[in-house]
Amino acid sequence: MDVPRIYLKPHRDTRAETGHLWIFSNEIDKAEEDVEAGGIADIFSSREKFIGRGFCNPQSLIAARILTRKAEPVDEAFVLRKIQSALALRDEILPGETAYRLVFGESDGLPGVVIDRLGDVFVIQSYCLGAEKLLPHVFAALKTLFSPRAILKKSDSALRELEGLKDDVGIVEGDVRPPVEIVQGKLKFLADPIGGQKTGFFFDQRENRERLAFYAKGKTVLDAYSYGGGFGIYAASGGAKSVTCVDSSQAACDLAKKNFEMNGLKGEVIKEDVEAFLGQSKTEKRKFDIIVLDPPALAKSKKIVFSAIRKYGHINQAAMACLSPGGILLSCSCSHHVGRKEFIGMIAEAAGALGKTAKILEMRGQGRDHPILASMPETEYLKCAIVKVD
Ligand code: SAH
Repeated sequence: MDVPRIYLKPHRDTRAETGHLWIFSNEIDKAEEDVEAGGIADIFSSREKFIGRGFCNPQSLIAARILTRKAEPVDEAFVLRKIQSALALRDEILPGETAYRLVFGESDGLPGVVIDRLGDVFVIQSYCLGAEKLLPHVFAALKTLFSPRAILKKSDSALRELEGLKDDVGIVEGDVRPPVEIVQGKLKFLADPIGGQKTGFFFDQRENRERLAFYAKGKTVLDAYSYGGGFGIYAASGGAKSVTCVDSSQAACDLAKKNFEMNGLKGEVIKEDVEAFLGQSKTEKRKFDIIVLDPPALAKSKKIVFSAIRKYGHINQAAMACLSPGGILLSCSCSHHVGRKEFIGMIAEAAGALGKTAKILEMRGQGRDHPILASMPETEYLKCAIVKVD
């Protein structure tokens, strides 16, 4: 097969040569005429050395994404091998588990492809044109490896627009009536991949929830931005004295209530805006021993990082004001654009404004099934600080 070629500019080729998978449009010196949007191309350095093979989209800012460092066919067998090796990693790091992120895009060598496994139901998100074209191979690989009950598409990310793609949500094949029951360790959860948020369950917080359970024994716990009560249910299972979940979405609250019931655990679920709830608690002098803050991504682009950090600061300060003396704040940010340093600085400022001291007991991140590709900082996004506030 004759693969069209893309040549990079001098000095703009080192990043891709040393492990990064993205080629930005302004790094391309010349592209052969038969390079197709969404098609496969070979990437060469300015000195005409082969760097890798990937799919490209000349219309996008990320003009190419490297799939392999070998000149090998990108076909069904290729995609099967990638998913097989992603599965082998999950079997190693989460033995016995059946619900996790099976493929985390670039980190698992399939740029733009995310696959969540909810037992025998698979939910796929695709973020770019090239990934979209690989989907038939992805479906085939899942059928070979798992005999799925159902495969769903939940491609509704705003990033798709940058690639000229529309939302694509629905059942690809199989029979499933969401919500789907999944298992996380000893706990059960309902995940709604169609009506719910993202793929129906936030797997990236698994280990952070386990850490919360460790601190929760005998404590009053507030799970703010609770969605299906992921954190709250772990806190209850860890022996919390009481658990209160707060989320502004009715569907999320309904899911959380069912999740408590399903595990035989107790929790109060309140449909309310978190800031309004914290304001009210402050007025009533209601305190919690532990507060979890897991807001949605507040900085979806680099441009709004500063205003997002202010917003995080505001929420974190409001939460700290409702902590019992010596209480613990578990504060998260899933915005890639807010760095670890800025995040810690924000926590320090929030505590300082209240005349309190914040001690970070644990600085954590995304779960093991969302590995960070060391050569690609873009694959790191979640920050989770467990902070003692005196
Ligand atoms: N902690 C959850 C995930 C949170 S996702 C888990 O472990 O699974 C973010 C949640 O914040 C969503 O459920 C969304 O409905 C909720 N949300 C967004 N803005 C909110 C607001 N202003 N007040 C309360 N909840 C909000």
